[in-house]
Amino acid sequence: MCAACDHLPLTRRHVLAGAAASVLMGDETVRASEALVEPRLQIDKVGEGARPRVALTLDACSGHTDFTLLDALIARRIAATLFVTGLWLERNPQAIARIKDHLDLFEIGNHGGRHLAAIWGRSAPFGVKAAGSPEAVQNEVLSGERAILSVFGKKPQWFRGATALYSAPAVPLIAGMGYAVAGYSLNGDAGASLSAGAVTQRVERAQNGDVILAHLNHPERPCGKGLVNGLASLQSQGVTFVHLGNVWASSRASQL
Ligand SMILES: [Zn+2]
Repeated sequence: MCAACDHLPLTRRHVLAGAAASVLMGDETVRASEALVEPRLQIDKVGEGARPRVALTLDACSGHTDFTLLDALIARRIAATLFVTGLWLERNPQAIARIKDHLDLFEIGNHGGRHLAAIWGRSAPFGVKAAGSPEAVQNEVLSGERAILSVFGKKPQWFRGATALYSAPAVPLIAGMGYAVAGYSLNGDAGASLSAGAVTQRVERAQNGDVILAHLNHPERPCGKGLVNGLASLQSQGVTFVHLGNVWASSRASQL
């Protein structure tokens, strides 16, 4: 799971502070190839009619589907980019059918075939398995891509690896496979670990241009309810929601 994914015995700052080299949040300054990087992503702040706009991104790592959240997005007409794995696609046909009925709202992103982190070596943070090598990272990307192609018939533009952390050389490797690597600017649910109230507080403070990261695959946890409340608050503030795909050109340059 991820924080990106769902276990947080360590905070993300602990992980980054523990990396062998210096990693600056936001501009990914890396002084050693073994350091982990966490790409940050914001979207162009200029929206139609100058209304503030935010991109909602939801990871579906494995497991099940929070239908309360999914149905609330549909009812409220909130666009989202869904980062799905091959594992999740195998286990959630009912959710896939719901998404296919609303492809005007949902853009599909690649979260890998088996939810392996794009990290060299044997271990990755948050209890997630590392792919382990450049070849294994490529396999993770391609197996996720094949699964999405077989279900949705379209290659995604965006990839986000499990944990949203990367061995530094993995980012250009994945970009070389034709993907934009999706970071985020607002961690909405801390790996689906937060209470509903805490998620609402985080999300309702989103600013124009933010990319929110949260999870779709935890119906058993309270975070989805908190997310819905936070998104409703943003809508009441006049915020509009856009896909990452709609802002590709403006965000790609600042990301890498
Ligand atoms: Zn994940």
